[in-house]
Amino acid sequence: MKALALLKNAKIEYNPFKILDVNLPDLNSNEILVRVTEVGLCKLDIDLIEGNFLSFGFPSKFPLIIGHEIIGKVEDIGENVNFFKKYESVAIGLIYSSCLRCKNCLNGKENFCDKLQITGFSSDGGLSQYFKINESFAFNIPNEINIDAPSLICNGSFAYKCAKIINRYNVEKVGIFGSDLTAQILSQILKYYGIEVHLVISKSEPIPEYKFYDSLEYANNLKQNYFDAAVVLSNNFEFMDKAVLAVKRGSNVILAALGIVKVPAFLEGKSFILPGLPTRSDIIELMNFCKSRKFQVDKEEINFSNITDGLKAIKYKRTNKKIYINLQKSFL
Ligand SMILES: [Zn+2]
Ligand SMILES: [Zn+2]
Repeated sequence: MKALALLKNAKIEYNPFKILDVNLPDLNSNEILVRVTEVGLCKLDIDLIEGNFLSFGFPSKFPLIIGHEIIGKVEDIGENVNFFKKYESVAIGLIYSSCLRCKNCLNGKENFCDKLQITGFSSDGGLSQYFKINESFAFNIPNEINIDAPSLICNGSFAYKCAKIINRYNVEKVGIFGSDLTAQILSQILKYYGIEVHLVISKSEPIPEYKFYDSLEYANNLKQNYFDAAVVLSNNFEFMDKAVLAVKRGSNVILAALGIVKVPAFLEGKSFILPGLPTRSDIIELMNFCKSRKFQVDKEEINFSNITDGLKAIKYKRTNKKIYINLQKSFL
């Protein structure tokens, strides 16, 4: 089968990819073989490709097949697979596997398992014609969901995880620092809860479409002690620093970006929450949440050969759409 592999860390402009012919994977008894139809791209792919996660050990091998927002159809099942049938629609996200036995795994926190494998980071991802995974880490896609599945499996699940945390507290006004698709989906979820949402960007950023928010604010111009919670979606130190000042005492700053290595000064009464990767229950709850609610996410399909252009559009914030690669068309 054909697959797109990352050969080394480099700026995306250098196109460090190669199409490889690799063997179709053999299935273990609890695994499903997925015929991949769509793979979404996001800024995590860019950080991974450009070496921003090297200090966390990712990519953990080369060549690496990237792609962690995977949609497809079940092509084959191992003999002990219980929950999937052939030809069902299936989605796979960032968690490729965990031990399923440690305390974190047993408590629904498999995102903090010491044996965690991340799709397209430490194990091969979905930019290939076929992909295999333990059925415990694959998700049925309900027919009713109107939101585009590649948007839901990564950006949507990060957004939902943040919204769940926000909902535990008495929150009326939230600042979202960072204007990507996760921000758009998070705002739409928070609106369902009746929460006021303010988008915060930096002066140097292009002004995004902000119809999803109550207002657009600049990070260097914010009132102090203003929000009941803040969500920081990028590992931009300026945002973290401003978010701490902008939340009220007794409130939380949720750092939803991965790979944060520097945090601002702590202030009494203001807490940080670093929720980590979305878990299986986050994704399943989100799928259920989306069944009866309408979300707006624009999407754009691209071919394999345009992957660099797609990644550049995300890197330089030239798009608000979910860019995804149609795998089957790409390999015709
Ligand atoms: Zn993603
Ligand atoms: Zn574990």
